[in-house]
Amino acid sequence: LEKEKEKIYEINKEAARFYYYNLMKNKKALMYLKNRNINKRVLNQFGLGYAQDSWNSIYEYLKSKGYKDLDIEKTELVGKKKDNTGYYDKFRNRIMFPIIDIRDRVIGFGGRVLDNSMPKYLNSKDTLVFTKGNNLYGLNLVKKLSNREKIILVEGYMDVISLFNHGINYAVASLGTAFTRNQGRLIKRYGKEVYICYDSDNAGINATIKALNILMEEGIDPKVIVLPSGQDPDDFINKNGIEEFEKLMDKALNFIEYQIYVNKLKFNLVNPEEKIIFTKEISKALKKLKSPIEKDVYIDKISLATGISKEAIKSEVFGKNYKSN
Ligand code: ATP
Ligand code: MN
Ligand code: MN
Ligand code: MN
Repeated sequence: LEKEKEKIYEINKEAARFYYYNLMKNKKALMYLKNRNINKRVLNQFGLGYAQDSWNSIYEYLKSKGYKDLDIEKTELVGKKKDNTGYYDKFRNRIMFPIIDIRDRVIGFGGRVLDNSMPKYLNSKDTLVFTKGNNLYGLNLVKKLSNREKIILVEGYMDVISLFNHGINYAVASLGTAFTRNQGRLIKRYGKEVYICYDSDNAGINATIKALNILMEEGIDPKVIVLPSGQDPDDFINKNGIEEFEKLMDKALNFIEYQIYVNKLKFNLVNPEEKIIFTKEISKALKKLKSPIEKDVYIDKISLATGISKEAIKSEVFGKNYKSN
């Protein structure tokens, strides 16, 4: 098994090299990255590449290097043709993002189209060396470059790259899957302060709440960087610059503040019924806080925001056993 794995790492690295040289030769792909403001240094740091618009170029290249079909197949870079006459390249006409683990091994790839066609991203299937939920995109560089004070969790490849492009060398992405416990543990090792900055849309908000819960279960006190509606970190930085992003970081919300923020978006506090649901929702979140002092501080805030008495919110949060004096 170890031998098998070594072979996959080796072929993946060879493939990444091939994609890189293709990118250097392809004006259209280089122009795409240039239009997205990615500089040469970061392009090289991440080892970006380009998969040609061809059904067999990676396959033929790897064959020419002497690799066997069965080994090439295990990388998930190629698929078997339906009629069993050979293999086809899975990644075609895409910008390639090698996914590299903390031991500097190429474990998989992501690929993006250069236009608006679908699917926008393709990721390697899980292989003997690649389990999406156990890895974070960018962590290899964070391990090398960051001082491990802060770490930012984002959604996409381009968000990580955009942050590095602007000197923030402590961003990772969760590889298109829901954030997992294992990823939570990894994050904890590489940053004292954990920030979540997912896309500011419904999917992003739901994913943020899930990630918050997982991180808190890992004993982390995460914060959320809130972007204007509809934007992701890459959009925001391109529009407003990195200084503005850093200002948002300084204003990042903790768990309860974020719950209040999200529920304020959902409910109209002028309407009594919605106000009740809002307060119940926040009370549920407050129950998850361990410290009674923290609970107290936020009960004050919610009481102020809603006009509901502190006593009522306290009994909601502490349950039947709560006795006021
Ligand atoms: P871009 O800025 O290049 O348009 P994005 O990163 O903002 O893309 P999102 O739609 O926000 O794209 O997706 C975030 C991340 O989720 C992607 O970077 C990718 O890792 C993953 N992803 C998106 N679409 C897919 C898909 N169809 N299959 C697998 N993973 C995907
Ligand atoms: Mn998104
Ligand atoms: Mn996005
Ligand atoms: Mn984006």
